[in-house]
Amino acid sequence: MSQSYSPPDTAFFHQLWEAQSGCCALCGRPMPRSRFEVAHATIWKKQRPTFDHIIPRAAGGPDMADNLQLAHAICNKRKGKSQAASVGRDRT
Ligand SMILES: [Zn+2]
Repeated sequence: MSQSYSPPDTAFFHQLWEAQSGCCALCGRPMPRSRFEVAHATIWKKQRPTFDHIIPRAAGGPDMADNLQLAHAICNKRKGKSQAASVGRDRT
Protein backbone atom coordinates (compact mmCIF):
# COMPACT_ATOMS: atom_id res chain seq x y z
CA MET A 1 0.00 0.00 0.00
CA SER A 2 1.18 3.46 -0.82
CA GLN A 3 -0.72 6.67 -0.98
CA SER A 4 1.32 7.76 -3.98
CA TYR A 5 -0.47 5.09 -6.01
CA SER A 6 -3.69 7.05 -6.07
CA PRO A 7 -4.44 10.73 -6.42
CA PRO A 8 -5.69 12.70 -3.44
CA ASP A 9 -9.20 11.40 -2.89
CA THR A 10 -10.84 14.61 -1.80
CA ALA A 11 -13.93 16.48 -2.95
CA PHE A 12 -11.69 19.31 -4.08
CA PHE A 13 -9.59 16.98 -6.20
CA HIS A 14 -12.71 15.59 -7.90
CA GLN A 15 -14.01 19.09 -8.48
CA LEU A 16 -10.83 20.15 -10.25
CA TRP A 17 -10.68 16.84 -12.12
CA GLU A 18 -14.20 17.39 -13.48
CA ALA A 19 -13.51 21.04 -14.31
CA GLN A 20 -10.39 20.08 -16.29
CA SER A 21 -11.94 16.91 -17.77
CA GLY A 22 -9.02 14.93 -16.39
CA CYS A 23 -6.50 16.91 -18.45
CA CYS A 24 -3.28 18.52 -17.31
CA ALA A 25 -3.60 22.28 -16.83
CA LEU A 26 -0.08 22.82 -18.12
CA CYS A 27 0.23 20.62 -21.22
CA GLY A 28 -3.45 19.87 -21.88
CA ARG A 29 -2.97 16.11 -22.17
CA PRO A 30 -5.03 13.60 -20.21
CA MET A 31 -3.75 12.41 -16.86
CA PRO A 32 -4.08 8.83 -15.58
CA ARG A 33 -6.57 8.69 -12.76
CA SER A 34 -4.91 5.80 -10.99
CA ARG A 35 -1.73 3.78 -11.03
CA PHE A 36 -3.59 0.96 -12.77
CA GLU A 37 -4.25 3.02 -15.91
CA VAL A 38 -0.55 3.07 -16.76
CA ALA A 39 1.87 0.24 -17.44
CA HIS A 40 4.66 1.12 -15.06
CA ALA A 41 5.06 2.72 -11.67
CA THR A 42 7.67 5.03 -13.18
CA ILE A 43 5.12 6.34 -15.69
CA TRP A 44 2.64 6.88 -12.88
CA LYS A 45 5.26 8.73 -10.89
CA LYS A 46 5.77 11.20 -13.75
CA GLN A 47 2.20 11.48 -15.00
CA ARG A 48 0.12 11.24 -11.84
CA PRO A 49 -2.11 14.24 -11.19
CA THR A 50 -0.73 16.69 -8.66
CA PHE A 51 -1.91 20.00 -7.29
CA ASP A 52 -0.17 22.86 -9.01
CA HIS A 53 -0.07 26.39 -7.65
CA ILE A 54 -1.11 28.80 -10.42
CA ILE A 55 0.87 31.51 -8.64
CA PRO A 56 3.75 29.59 -7.07
CA ARG A 57 4.09 29.64 -3.33
CA ALA A 58 7.59 31.03 -3.83
CA ALA A 59 5.98 34.08 -5.44
CA GLY A 60 3.49 34.53 -2.63
CA GLY A 61 0.67 32.44 -4.13
CA PRO A 62 -1.88 31.40 -1.53
CA ASP A 63 -2.50 27.75 -0.61
CA MET A 64 -6.14 28.14 -1.59
CA ALA A 65 -8.59 26.60 -4.05
CA ASP A 66 -8.52 29.63 -6.35
CA ASN A 67 -4.81 29.21 -6.80
CA LEU A 68 -4.74 25.46 -7.44
CA GLN A 69 -5.08 23.37 -10.57
CA LEU A 70 -4.22 19.78 -11.51
CA ALA A 71 -1.14 18.98 -13.54
CA HIS A 72 1.07 15.99 -14.32
CA ALA A 73 3.74 15.57 -11.66
CA ILE A 74 6.40 16.02 -14.36
CA CYS A 75 4.80 19.20 -15.76
CA ASN A 76 4.42 20.59 -12.26
CA LYS A 77 8.06 19.92 -11.55
CA ARG A 78 9.22 21.42 -14.85
CA LYS A 79 7.13 24.54 -14.29
CA GLY A 80 8.39 24.85 -10.73
CA LYS A 81 11.95 24.86 -11.97
CA SER A 82 11.50 27.48 -14.67
CA GLN A 83 9.43 29.72 -12.42
CA ALA A 84 11.84 29.43 -9.54
CA ALA A 85 14.50 30.81 -11.86
CA SER A 86 12.44 33.78 -13.02
CA VAL A 87 11.02 34.46 -9.57
CA GLY A 88 14.55 34.62 -8.23
CA ARG A 89 15.48 37.19 -10.83
CA ASP A 90 12.37 39.33 -10.50
CA ARG A 91 12.29 39.48 -6.75
CA THR A 92 12.99 42.91 -5.35
ZN1 LIG B 1 1.06 17.80 -18.30
